[in-house]
Amino acid sequence: MICRSCGTRNPNKAIVCSGCGEIFNTDNGYVGYENMDMPMKWYKFLAYFSCWFNALYGFSQAYSMSQNRIFRGAGDLGAILFAYEPGLKSFSIFIFVLSGILCLVSGYTLLKYMKIAPIAVLANYIINLIWSIVIIIAVPTVINLDTLYGINDSQSTYFFTSIFLIGLNVALTVFNAIYFNKRKHYFTN
Ligand SMILES: [Zn+2]
Repeated sequence: MICRSCGTRNPNKAIVCSGCGEIFNTDNGYVGYENMDMPMKWYKFLAYFSCWFNALYGFSQAYSMSQNRIFRGAGDLGAILFAYEPGLKSFSIFIFVLSGILCLVSGYTLLKYMKIAPIAVLANYIINLIWSIVIIIAVPTVINLDTLYGINDSQSTYFFTSIFLIGLNVALTVFNAIYFNKRKHYFTN
């Protein structure tokens, strides 16, 4: 098993870490060799890169939205949407600031193997999912896309993008829930 304190790889049935002397037992979260040595590549990707990058992304999105710039692929759709429905703008800024904060918390708590870390990771995907759903419901009700673009292609592109985002966030939520549930014995602090 790999020692959580120092990273030394020990034989699976080791009782004491050969690197730092950490004692492996159920009290400190080591629950038997058959559950250990699970791949942690996704954890490393999140802890060392993704969370920090997504925090920056969240704060920059919130700033862009405060300047009425979202949906770059759809031109001025964001600006028009927010002009029609200012509440949606405040809601969106709030969501992306919250997402940025959650990503900072996720990165920090993952590195410290804190119990709250997987919850923070999941919460971020879930609030992004909620935002995607609110936007896909709100856009057609405040804007007539046919009038805006004059063609049905824009509608299908818009809906395809929105459905893709919703599907992606559902998939990420489920994947992370399974991933971290299998590895919860690592997160004991
Ligand atoms: Zn060790």
